[in-house]
Amino acid sequence: MPHELPGLSGGVDGYGSAIRRRENTTRRDLSYPPLPEPLTISVYDNHTHLEIADGEHPLSYREQLDRASSVGVRGVIQVGGDVETSRWSAAAALIEPRMLAAVAIHPNEAPALEEAGTLDDALAVIHELAGQPRVVAIGETGLDFFRTPEEGRAAQFRSFEAHIRIAKEHNLAMQIHDRDAHEAVIETLLRVGAPERTVFHCFSGDADMARLCAAQGWYMSFAGNVTFKNAGNLREALSAAPRNLLLVETDAPFLTPLPYRGRPNAPYLLPNTLRGMAAHLETDVSLLAAQITANTELVYGRWDAEPVTAAFADQNEDQNPDRAPLGGLA
Ligand SMILES: [Zn+2]
Repeated sequence: MPHELPGLSGGVDGYGSAIRRRENTTRRDLSYPPLPEPLTISVYDNHTHLEIADGEHPLSYREQLDRASSVGVRGVIQVGGDVETSRWSAAAALIEPRMLAAVAIHPNEAPALEEAGTLDDALAVIHELAGQPRVVAIGETGLDFFRTPEEGRAAQFRSFEAHIRIAKEHNLAMQIHDRDAHEAVIETLLRVGAPERTVFHCFSGDADMARLCAAQGWYMSFAGNVTFKNAGNLREALSAAPRNLLLVETDAPFLTPLPYRGRPNAPYLLPNTLRGMAAHLETDVSLLAAQITANTELVYGRWDAEPVTAAFADQNEDQNPDRAPLGGLA
């Protein structure tokens, strides 16, 4: 069946359409923060995970996007990190006009798959999804030396390089996950040849790295942690990055911007991060929003360039999460 909707109808028990549940490692406030004041000029969330339920009363992806629309966040890139979430992302983007999809095997997933002998199968699924309508990016892929020990790194490199080739073959953008691996990520991109539109998701480098990325024409996407008090290096990077290479994201449900750090994050909180960035850059919020929106459409294209498959949506009416018993909007 060419169009299956993995997990969209049922989801995790009690968590709407989500297929994963965020683990709670620390005690934190599980209530969703209030809606911010709406933006005048709307922006896109460059990177979010709406398949992960969070909070005391999790929101379905439709509720998430309705809230986002109400404050001027006009669309999201929904990002997968394994076969299941990549399939979910591609399927959801097909029926949701405010969503485009990115698909990949996350660098922290690659070592276990390699050990199980299934990494190539997983990469083959990503390769196949890359050819689907409304899949506009390969990501998140890259290197993570923070969570993966030495012995897993060969698998990470192999997976990263395979993703770079898939992105180039399909002329898709690429979203990079780089945690404690700046030099190795850059070295790999230069050695293998970066895709034309390469984005560092949740940019975590300093001003020098921002200048290096700028010289290559690589995009830098800032998340809620740019507002954190101890993130002076990120704000210096933000100042050093050319405006035409800036993007903004939530990485929801993680990295909630101030003043709500620790609470569930969602695309509707993107204005808080944007306003924090504009304040730091001493520029007008609407001017920055207009620039970032233009940048985002240059990277991924327009959200309505490939229409949602209406016939397909009708045919799956009974699977519409709004109508399903666990849909959340009911
Ligand atoms: Zn992510």
